[in-house]
Amino acid sequence: MKKIGVLTSGGDSPGMNAAFRAVVRTAKTLNMEVMAIRHGYKGLIEDDITKVTPHDVSNIIQRGGTVLKSARCDEFRTKEGREKAANVLKKHKIEALITIGGDGTFQGATHLANEHDINVIGVPATIDNDLVGSDETIGYDTALNTAMEAIDKIRDTADAHDRLFLVEVMGRDAGFIALETGIAGGAELILLPESLTDIDDVKASLNEVLSEQRRSSLVVIAEGDDTGGALKISEELKPDFSKYEMRVCILGHVQRGGNPTARDRVLASRLGSAAVSVLNEGHSQVMVGVVNNKVKLTPLKMTFGKKKDINFDLLELAKTLR
Ligand code: ATP
Repeated sequence: MKKIGVLTSGGDSPGMNAAFRAVVRTAKTLNMEVMAIRHGYKGLIEDDITKVTPHDVSNIIQRGGTVLKSARCDEFRTKEGREKAANVLKKHKIEALITIGGDGTFQGATHLANEHDINVIGVPATIDNDLVGSDETIGYDTALNTAMEAIDKIRDTADAHDRLFLVEVMGRDAGFIALETGIAGGAELILLPESLTDIDDVKASLNEVLSEQRRSSLVVIAEGDDTGGALKISEELKPDFSKYEMRVCILGHVQRGGNPTARDRVLASRLGSAAVSVLNEGHSQVMVGVVNNKVKLTPLKMTFGKKKDINFDLLELAKTLR
């Protein structure tokens, strides 16, 4: 294999740049040429492609976002769109594609590989950490720390004013960020999409902690919690907790940005490099992940439509410690 393409796709996550850098620099050691595809599958279809050298990826390991840019692309969901993409790859004599993104990105890559005989490798990068086949995904640790720092700050003001704070963190389908930031931030209650939330239980738990001389309280809620998120829950709680000042804080997109943590940079470097190595060994349609501190390959088709299990022991721990 002499020429490979690389793109970032779907939601951006801190560490994508470190993965891109690792792809380019590892490829150099194997005498492969790397073509950078900007704006994900959209850029592939539109031929937004340039050659990159190891020098071009200097000084990006520490940067959040993605210098390759990302995009969502509906055209790539169609056979016609993927045919256009395959023709662009053929025009550039690109023999294989490394896709850095989430399960949607991998689903698209799998269709492309099956329809056009192109080798594809997936590198898991999403702040939600919701991909099976890797203990953590690139960007998760940074998002976790960003959310935790915000929660620490909210805790200060909650304590100063005896307030009840409902903090909503990202996670439409998965509660990893809520669970771990909730524990790290000492939340009194954590609500996740993975477990049904009974509003009467929430009221009872809050009453319990607030009766213990505690005048402030912090609830961490994943945006995909079945009650409909922090704003909805605050409406339900207000009548019963009128003597407390209640505030809602939706952390939103701050959780996507920022310089990647050391852990994310190392993970991204390992996975970006592994993606090139396994391509060189002849693999295709696999995702590179890290499981128990070892690089592991998972067939791409096993990564989508599957739910990664949350550790319910941690939820129990949070209850014990509140
Ligand atoms: P994140 O987890 O951050 O949302 P993702 O990779 O899952 O990342 P998606 O928006 O689901 O993000 O997918 C990215 C792109 O992959 C889509 O815009 C589309 O171009 C392509 N894609 C997603 N699903 C499919 C599919 N079923 N078939 C073909 N292409 C797809």
